[in-house]
Amino acid sequence: MIYPIRLYGDPVLRKRARPVQDFGGLKKLAEDMLETMFAARGVGLAAPQIGLSERLFVAVEYADEPEGEERPLRDLVRRIYVVANPVITHREGQVEGLEGCLSLPGLYAEEVPRAERIRVVYQDEEGQERTLELEGYMARVFQHEVDHLEGILFFERLPKAKREAFLQEHRAELARMQKEARALLKELSQR
Ligand SMILES: [Zn+2]
Repeated sequence: MIYPIRLYGDPVLRKRARPVQDFGGLKKLAEDMLETMFAARGVGLAAPQIGLSERLFVAVEYADEPEGEERPLRDLVRRIYVVANPVITHREGQVEGLEGCLSLPGLYAEEVPRAERIRVVYQDEEGQERTLELEGYMARVFQHEVDHLEGILFFERLPKAKREAFLQEHRAELARMQKEARALLKELSQR
């Protein structure tokens, strides 16, 4: 099942998500989130982005750059992560890099600061505790997704002047997204 992706302006993106406690339906939910993420050609998707305020996200490491590829994204998958209740227990180094978000389609910011290396403790789709050490791009993806569980969007990690420039530059698109977010909420409430 492909979920509609919640857009900038939807209050669910601003909430601190609650811990996952019931792992019963998690496999199916994670599969649906992956399907939604692949359809939108993303690298990660957090539960709040489908309107579910739980501490869960999916992320994918691709073998090649999916950019401009004609092949289905699933063919390029190297590794899939289903991550519940993540805690970043160690951060090291700092790097700046490009980020976008499926909840702010078409908008990107360069120079988003993130830790270069992280250690993250989480539970997999069966509730098993796991520890991962990540660096570079996947470390960035995980930090972006963990932020979603705290109600934080990527541009808010920019230093103040750049954050204000981002909001100013994309004012019209952001206003349009807020309008779309409200229309989607209205539609969903009438289903
Ligand atoms: Zn995002």
